Amino acid sequence: MTDRLYYHDSFLYDFESEVRESSDSPRPSVILDRTAFYPTSGGQIFDTGLMSTEAGSIKVVEVADTEDGRVVHYLEAPPKDLKPGTRVRGQIDATRRRDHMQQHSGQHVLSAAFVSLFNIPTVSFHMADDYCSIDLDTPNLSKAQVEQAERLANEIILEDRAVDIRFVTREEAGNLGLRKLPPAERDHLRIIDIRGFDLSACGGTHVNQTGQIGCILLRKTEKVRQGWRVEFIAGQRAVAAARRDFQTLTETAALFSAHIYDLPQQTRKSLDEIRSLRKQNEDLQDELAAAQAVAILSETPEANGRKLVVRTFSDREMNFLKLLAQKLVRHATNTVALLGTTSPQPSLVFAQSARQPFDMGALMKQTMSKFGGRGGGSKDMAQGGLPTADAVQEALNSAFASLRT
Ligand SMILES: [Zn+2]
Repeated sequence: MTDRLYYHDSFLYDFESEVRESSDSPRPSVILDRTAFYPTSGGQIFDTGLMSTEAGSIKVVEVADTEDGRVVHYLEAPPKDLKPGTRVRGQIDATRRRDHMQQHSGQHVLSAAFVSLFNIPTVSFHMADDYCSIDLDTPNLSKAQVEQAERLANEIILEDRAVDIRFVTREEAGNLGLRKLPPAERDHLRIIDIRGFDLSACGGTHVNQTGQIGCILLRKTEKVRQGWRVEFIAGQRAVAAARRDFQTLTETAALFSAHIYDLPQQTRKSLDEIRSLRKQNEDLQDELAAAQAVAILSETPEANGRKLVVRTFSDREMNFLKLLAQKLVRHATNTVALLGTTSPQPSLVFAQSARQPFDMGALMKQTMSKFGGRGGGSKDMAQGGLPTADAVQEALNSAFASLRT
């Protein structure tokens, strides 16, 4: 068993120890007789830092528990100067540890707030590098409940209550009224006591006073299978997130020349405008297509009893081509239209009036296979996309030629 120094002092960032085991594979790692490095457990993620001897230092990149109660320190490089018996100095990345303490103690305060206000228990705690979450065992969770719990948690933080660590027997723990009892294996329990507010069995690293948590900010809530998940961040993470939110809002507000608090209203207004402009644009496209169809038909001579229209456009959407093709073949009952556009997407639309003898779908397939595109359609209307703009004119010419043979 490794002697876990963090059990007694979460603020011990620098310690001396002795190497018990070291290994190069599968990952470079060492086990010490005692350590202040926290291994991932109980929802809290591992510490990082340095391990040093007179010969130099190696980075500790991950720390984990073994099943038999030892703590493994994974290293950035093989531990060649860390043979068993070597004296080492361990240094914890204090910024990272402080952040973890703020999140984990923040979680205890928040979970206790949900119990004390609404009798809603926490069933799990998850800490990641950027945010944390708890899962609450409740079928419903309102916005008002979230805000009340956030408010109470921050009051407990502002009151700067003492956070004590105590070791008790399982029997003693049974009489303390713990918020959460751990599984029944252990004889001795480590209790985190937030004075007058919360008692929990926990092996994590915690602040000495609730004021060191700084603040707690609740973020997204979402329904999960067993209840509700509440994302939160505490301390400097909360400040960093608020800073990022403010920057995002400020940048967006500048785009609208608006105040950040007017953004929802401004955004709704802009979306309404976009919808209305889109509708206007559709109506205009329709009118344009109708007018162009009339003009094109009037300048297309009849040959063998039908009008064969071949046109290439630039800067026309496929939808416009389809619209124009429809107008052309409906306006006159003897029309075949072969239309192409070079941009934004090189595409073709073929159409014929009802009861004309060709097969537009087959003609499109044949043209596409010749020019490396994909497309098809029905007997009277077909569409396809070409790989390059250069192919558009050639493909139209080819389709036109095959109609005349
Ligand atoms: Zn805990």
